[in-house]
Amino acid sequence: MAVDRLQELANHYDVIVIGSGLAGMTAANYLGKNGRKVLLLEQHYNFGGMATWFNRKGGHIFDISLHGFPVGMIKSCRKYWSKEIADSIVQLKSIRFDNPQFTLETTFDRADFTNILIEKFGIKGETVEAFFDTARGMDFYDDQTMTTRELFEKFFPGRTDVWRLLMEPIAYANGSTLDDPAITYGIVFSNFMSKGVFIFRGGTDLLIRLMKKELARNGVDLRRQSLVEKVIVENRKAVGVSVNGKEIRGNAVLSNANLKKTVIDFVDKEHLSANFLAQARDVRLNNSSAQVYMGLKKGEAIPFIGDLLFTSVREDFNSEALLSKNITSRTFSMYYPSIRPGSDRYAIVSSTNANYDDWANLSDEEYKRNKQHLIDDTIHALEKYLPGIRGKIDHVEASTPRTFEFYTHQVMGATFGTKFEGLQVSMDLPKQVPGLFHAGSVGIIMSGWLGAINYGVIVANEVDSYLHSESKETISR
Ligand SMILES: Cc1cc2nc3c(=O)[nH]c(=O)nc-3n(C[C@H](O)[C@H](O)[C@H](O)COP(=O)(O)OP(=O)(O)OC[C@H]3O[C@@H](n4cnc5c(N)ncnc54)[C@H](O)[C@@H]3O)c2cc1C
Repeated sequence: MAVDRLQELANHYDVIVIGSGLAGMTAANYLGKNGRKVLLLEQHYNFGGMATWFNRKGGHIFDISLHGFPVGMIKSCRKYWSKEIADSIVQLKSIRFDNPQFTLETTFDRADFTNILIEKFGIKGETVEAFFDTARGMDFYDDQTMTTRELFEKFFPGRTDVWRLLMEPIAYANGSTLDDPAITYGIVFSNFMSKGVFIFRGGTDLLIRLMKKELARNGVDLRRQSLVEKVIVENRKAVGVSVNGKEIRGNAVLSNANLKKTVIDFVDKEHLSANFLAQARDVRLNNSSAQVYMGLKKGEAIPFIGDLLFTSVREDFNSEALLSKNITSRTFSMYYPSIRPGSDRYAIVSSTNANYDDWANLSDEEYKRNKQHLIDDTIHALEKYLPGIRGKIDHVEASTPRTFEFYTHQVMGATFGTKFEGLQVSMDLPKQVPGLFHAGSVGIIMSGWLGAINYGVIVANEVDSYLHSESKETISR
């Protein structure tokens, strides 16, 4: 008999959070800490959303999205989670690039990049400084019409090698292209440039375990395998959800599920203006990903070849080529034993950005064949950096946009949520349905681990203000 995951629920909650991605969990934790009675509903058996991992026979453990984030994570985790979590964040020592235009190693911060741009690429010091200052000065309220391509053209005309150095890692970090608004590039690039790239020591499994502990400490009621089907709206306000066929009531609902799904599927359309619904339908999703997970046999080791390896065999940088199923560019994330203190195991994860449509409609047979091709090709590419690696691997498997969609319910497996226009729709949702909020990867800038956590806090504050104003209204009635 199926286990009822919703036993012994309270009759009523202050806030019901749909989804336990980093945005949902952070919002739930913030509100719980503020004394709100919070219910967190997650459809999967694990919490964390895309911040996840999996174990395989033979002692293998693979992280999905733990490749790197900006230093800002330390402050956000200390402020909104715990010192223990913040103290486990460590810097990656070596980021390497290898492509037909250049081969180099960097700590990926402003000082090192300035040096590389001047010494290796022959760019004038004042141009480099002006570029960094412009990128750092960008914010949400800036000109949103300038594209990243135009920004690069302005500072480094015709220098596609420089564009590649500046753009390739950011395209992997948030799925942005040369044709997205330059502010989405500037904000994320500057976040990384301030101090370099960081990672969570202990692995995603430890991070989520610590977050769950903190949530429980703050009284958040956590329920897994609980699929929300609808948001209940009465008298124009969100008053609860229907989950696993059951109705649960709350004063506010915060959805961490995909933005389009939240607006289009969770809410009956009579509660939304035609204009807003059209705006939500027009929001473009960001790209998805494909990965190959390679686990080394117990007792096998590899030399240190860098932490992150951006590789490409393509002559120049091209946003479309980065997504193609015909892969020319990959990032290898190297997981040495030091990532999980006490472990002696090595794992390597290759990531590429991917188009959902290239994978969505393959027959089972084609899908299997294409995944095998992805695996074979990836190991072949890795042999360049680690000759003989094939013989050391005893577990390998691949994921595709279909995998990400299946596990997180992100529409089209969107790795980084939506393109820029999604942010406005996400922010405007409570104006359409008071009491219904959205927090999660949107607008490119509010994605990735740091973006999701920070957006979770921003929206949790709005939820808190809403609950305050509602309680005042009830008292004055
Ligand atoms: C392959 C890959 C590599 C990445 N690498 C990095 C990286 O190196 N650095 C970085 O910063 N970021 C990286 N990211 C991106 C980062 O992981 C995400 O941007 C971030 O974790 C998203 O958090 P979120 O809160 O927006 O949503 P999600 O993680 O998508 O969480 C949404 C949650 O809602 C749940 N849900 C959905 N619908 C329902 C429903 N109806 N009922 C109940 N629950 C529901 C889902 O199951 C999920 O748990 C990567 C992502 C991928 C896929």
